[in-house]
Amino acid sequence: MNLYVLLGTTTSKTIILKRADWSARDKPLVEASHSKRDTRSFLREEYERLVTQDLDWRIRVLGSNSGPWGVVSGKKTLILCSNNYLNLTNHPKVKKAALDAIEKYGAGSGSVRPIAGTMNPHVELEETLARYKRTEASLAYATGFAANSGLIPQLAAEGDLIISDELNHGSIIDGVRLSRAERTVYKHRDMENLGKVLNEAENKNYKHILVVTDGVFSMDGDIAPADRMVELAEEHGAMTYIDDAHGDGVLGEFGRGITSHFNIEGRVDVEMGTFSKAFGVVGGYVAGSRDLVNYALNKSRTWLLSASHPASVVASCRASLQVVQKEPEHLRNLWNNTRYFKEGLKKLGFDTGSSQTPITPVMVGDSSKARRMSEMLFEEKVFALPIIYPMVAREKARIRTIMNAGHSSQDLDYALNAFEKVGRVLGII
Ligand code: PMP
Repeated sequence: MNLYVLLGTTTSKTIILKRADWSARDKPLVEASHSKRDTRSFLREEYERLVTQDLDWRIRVLGSNSGPWGVVSGKKTLILCSNNYLNLTNHPKVKKAALDAIEKYGAGSGSVRPIAGTMNPHVELEETLARYKRTEASLAYATGFAANSGLIPQLAAEGDLIISDELNHGSIIDGVRLSRAERTVYKHRDMENLGKVLNEAENKNYKHILVVTDGVFSMDGDIAPADRMVELAEEHGAMTYIDDAHGDGVLGEFGRGITSHFNIEGRVDVEMGTFSKAFGVVGGYVAGSRDLVNYALNKSRTWLLSASHPASVVASCRASLQVVQKEPEHLRNLWNNTRYFKEGLKKLGFDTGSSQTPITPVMVGDSSKARRMSEMLFEEKVFALPIIYPMVAREKARIRTIMNAGHSSQDLDYALNAFEKVGRVLGII
């Protein structure tokens, strides 16, 4: 009998050595090509390719909090690209909640949620969130990304179908990729097309159908027609999943999100969102029925196998939810600023795309021009990032601006002046 020792596996071949022939240790039966294979050069080559194509990320570092203004790359700059919609990252109650929780619960949770990492503040956050979202229950995840990538693959398995908007966020796309279900996309926000896909699905014998969409699309600031989507899904017995990352704290009464905006509370099976944007902290969640939460916490590997947040983080998230309900002025300011800034850009002659929310793209077209515009704005002390291919189509590069409730009208005039100056130099207006 020949026993073989496995020396290693490569993508192309397995290297084996006959046990009887120990002397051949230095000389495998199948010649290894390890010595010829460079394990690292592709890292630099790929990076250099991105640089050549002007597609690499150049990271700017903040030397201050993320506010309406901040110190960015050492310079005091107006910030127009953070997701801190309501300026709650700096709210005294949100900060104090973290400090108090650290005193009582320490800096870390010490474990994953199912073992020893569920503390009172985790449970309190979930109860507060469920009341705010008007759902039976909710479950906090480490991030929104972890919620999407951990739960979606558990909701649809082999024999099921996932139907996804073509412009859904990358974390949804990754969640869908991890599922063994069949998958298809419908045209962006096109409910006629979704209806057609659902009709076609009736001819196949899927056990479950999951329809998934962003609530507010992060690149264009447009809103999914969730009311129609829910009707269609109800007609066809499909489950609905809405990622409200950019609708949380922004849409609906007290910023309750897209279900409040369309008056469809209780009709979306999975409401997913994040505390990292309007709520000003970090962390993902799902909200829905008690059955959903029981299922999600027993099935999502990102929830089961990854450490829970320190109590300070979840305590801050809960304080944010309390602030948005007690202090509606932040939401009012956000929308006043949004209207003022959008109007100002349009009057100057900029194309602001199809935005319906505080995410306002300033369409530029070419990726290199968008980058140049961002750099020129930064020279004018305005921090607004370009969104370029592959995040959007090649000819649809833009500067994406996001309003903050803390911006004053002087701040917005300052930004509009900078956009006008730079836009004229670049021939955009
Ligand atoms: N969904 C959408 C639509 C998002 O924009 C984001 C954040 N970029 C996420 C999910 C991920 O959320 P988090 O930052 O909490 O991981």
